[in-house]
Amino acid sequence: MTNTTDRASDLVEQLSRWRRHLHQHPEVSFQEHQTAAYIAAELGRMPNLEVSHPTATSVLAVLRGSRPGRTVLLRADIDALPMQEENTFEFRSAHDGAMHACGHDGHTAILLGTAQLLSQQADLPGEIRMIFQHAEEQSPGGAEELVQGTPLMEGVDVATGLHLNSQLPTGVVAVKPGAFMAAPDNIYITIHGRGGHAAHPEEAIDPIAIGAQVVSNLQQVVSRGVSALDALVVSVTYFHAGTTTNVIPDRAELKGTVRTFDKGLRERAPQLIERVVKGVTEAHGASYDFQYEQGYRPLINTDWVAEELRQVALEVVGEERTRLAQPTMGGEDFSAYLERVPGAYFNVGSGSPEQDSTFPHHHPRFTLDEESLLTGVQMMHRAALRLAEG
Ligand SMILES: [Zn+2]
Ligand SMILES: [Zn+2]
Repeated sequence: MTNTTDRASDLVEQLSRWRRHLHQHPEVSFQEHQTAAYIAAELGRMPNLEVSHPTATSVLAVLRGSRPGRTVLLRADIDALPMQEENTFEFRSAHDGAMHACGHDGHTAILLGTAQLLSQQADLPGEIRMIFQHAEEQSPGGAEELVQGTPLMEGVDVATGLHLNSQLPTGVVAVKPGAFMAAPDNIYITIHGRGGHAAHPEEAIDPIAIGAQVVSNLQQVVSRGVSALDALVVSVTYFHAGTTTNVIPDRAELKGTVRTFDKGLRERAPQLIERVVKGVTEAHGASYDFQYEQGYRPLINTDWVAEELRQVALEVVGEERTRLAQPTMGGEDFSAYLERVPGAYFNVGSGSPEQDSTFPHHHPRFTLDEESLLTGVQMMHRAALRLAEG
């Protein structure tokens, strides 16, 4: 066995150890204190890195090259979700009500592995900044805080990051130029009716019956209100009203999400939705409150960076496993970095039926095929070197 193979298999074991430790000790957005301490300690073992905490729960590792080149930002998100894990393996979450169900444990392990390789690299061009970002899962998001409130982006020329994807087979890398992920906005609706005895609905204004019409009419906004070529999703995900069987309540609360790529459509969405809420509630004598909350921006990849990443993927996984990514209605706060600098975000497949790792992200049984971690490191490592070579 050659020396290189030894090092590669050492790295595979190390990646698994990092990922399992993180998986077992998940912390939700803005509370990643132990996670950040763990990451900083692991980075502390590696040579040549300047390690700091730009915010309370994020970690930055900077590596300065020995010759001119670009400053490259590599990003991993580190937070978990507030949900109960249903996996039964040994390293399942030890924290009740918190789970790494999006793969950020894997992203963190991948960036630690990348840091390890890069920190041993002689003759490095430019500068590599590796940001272990907190709070991707909770708007307004950790990326925005880092971009607005810290000098992280000063002097950065280009940014990249990845998301593992359980819906793609392990070993596949998917990247696309242009619009990649949607803007995830939220809506909050309260319908004010008039409470009363359930036996005499004629004396009440029933916010549940009206709310049900609001929900179904909102689908008309999607199917009839905008062009079939414009991507729009409106999902009502929360409907709460009432306390018992014989009382019509006086109000109903609805919440949901609105997803768009197009800037113009995103700007029109609040009016399109409120018009339906207003029309339906007023038609039945009720009133309403409506709030539209903008989430992350849509994630738009820079064409030339996406092409560089595609070239890296061809080297790392070969032509057959390099794919054009499908745009997704999911949101991602990596878009905050791309507001400032050119860059591109890409997917690495982690789905394997044998490893039972094809559950969708945010599912209580979500898990990773750990083989995907090495692919992630190889992609990030080579992308960093290629992009830094300015
Ligand atoms: Zn997620
Ligand atoms: Zn995620």
